Amino acid sequence: MKMMRVPLAGALALGRALALAPARSSSLRAPARAFASRMPEVEDAGLKWSTGTGAPLECRAAVAFGVDDLRTTDVVVAAPKAGEVRLRVVANALCHTDIYTLEGSDPEGLFPSILGHEAGAIVESVGEGVTSVKVGDKVIPCYTPQCREADCIFCASPKTNLCPKIRGTQGRGVMPDGTTRFKTADGAPVAHFMGCSTFAEYTVVSEISCAKIDDSADLAKVCMLGCGVATGWGAAWKTANMEADASVAVFGCGAVGLAVIQAAKIRGARRIFAVDTNPDKFDIATEFGATDCVNPLELDGPVAAHLVGLTQWGVDYTFDCTGNTEVMRAALECAHRGWGVSVVIGVAAAGHEIATRPFQLVTGRTWKGTAFGGFKSRDEVPELVDRVLAGDLPIDAYITHNFDGVDNTHAAIDALHGGDCLRAVVSY
Ligand SMILES: [Zn+2]
Ligand SMILES: [Zn+2]
Repeated sequence: MKMMRVPLAGALALGRALALAPARSSSLRAPARAFASRMPEVEDAGLKWSTGTGAPLECRAAVAFGVDDLRTTDVVVAAPKAGEVRLRVVANALCHTDIYTLEGSDPEGLFPSILGHEAGAIVESVGEGVTSVKVGDKVIPCYTPQCREADCIFCASPKTNLCPKIRGTQGRGVMPDGTTRFKTADGAPVAHFMGCSTFAEYTVVSEISCAKIDDSADLAKVCMLGCGVATGWGAAWKTANMEADASVAVFGCGAVGLAVIQAAKIRGARRIFAVDTNPDKFDIATEFGATDCVNPLELDGPVAAHLVGLTQWGVDYTFDCTGNTEVMRAALECAHRGWGVSVVIGVAAAGHEIATRPFQLVTGRTWKGTAFGGFKSRDEVPELVDRVLAGDLPIDAYITHNFDGVDNTHAAIDALHGGDCLRAVVSY
């Protein structure tokens, strides 16, 4: 399971300093082979390309060939097999997890691969047995699938969205049958990423990863509900399930943190602290609903003690949206004595561990985490889109940069590295 990582400026520097960028082979090269073979093609590293009964098609994709080696190139996208769907990707919003993986900070990152997991798409063709979507439907690919099968205790439970149905193969960069639907023009198989791979004009995903949404949705906007924005909303509404009049502290005011702030305001939060080391974020945090802005770098003491001091006993609900384990600790330790809940949203760098004194839990604080905001993807993403279309959940302000064409994925990444970017959307 992977998610966004939205560091504070300081956390980003820290994360970079600590994250080893392992040298990886980008030489998963196979000899050139016939174009339309229906048989899996075996190559040295074991990655196999295989297609369904339809015709493969060629398109442009930004392929991550290795660490910091992203190149736009022609790829062949196989037809979907049984239970799979081929999508024409219309818009892709960059997420920090894509960059984190490209930079080599994800120890399980695979190369070559097609990254991207926050997108809006239209169904181009479907494989055998697919019934929940049809050609022409608008969908949001979801890295957290929902199989809805009777024997899936996770899908059956209202307590979680963590359907494990395709978890194993998704983590290995292949479709559920163990093969990939991507190869370069010269025949080298290319791995999938987070079950989505949306840095490409066409992609193949599992049917259970496709959330069918309203036909009138603007894919260049609702693409953001494929990860960051939906995650922030769900962290507030589902994972924390905060009540009206609560006090809230949000650590890290990127898109995810702002989504938490927006959701808290909609729930009727009484006081919302926006915490960030970049004071340039405070204007927009206030627009989204923050009532107090706190810059830890301007404080004499620890930020947790400062927030407890401002609230007497701490903050009812706190959220880490940074991926920094020290920030996670601070978020827990400023949670309210007796009932405070602290939610971890940010993904920490590999090998990092969280710590606190057990006394913090004994005295009534709860430490929990969330993946994709706890939303069951195929049921709830369409509902979120409906609420956006109804005007209940404004999302335009998250989009600070727009680009055209897969070839501009680089430009979007550069934009996301800049401090003024919330979401950069690339339309294909
Ligand atoms: Zn993401
Ligand atoms: Zn399931």
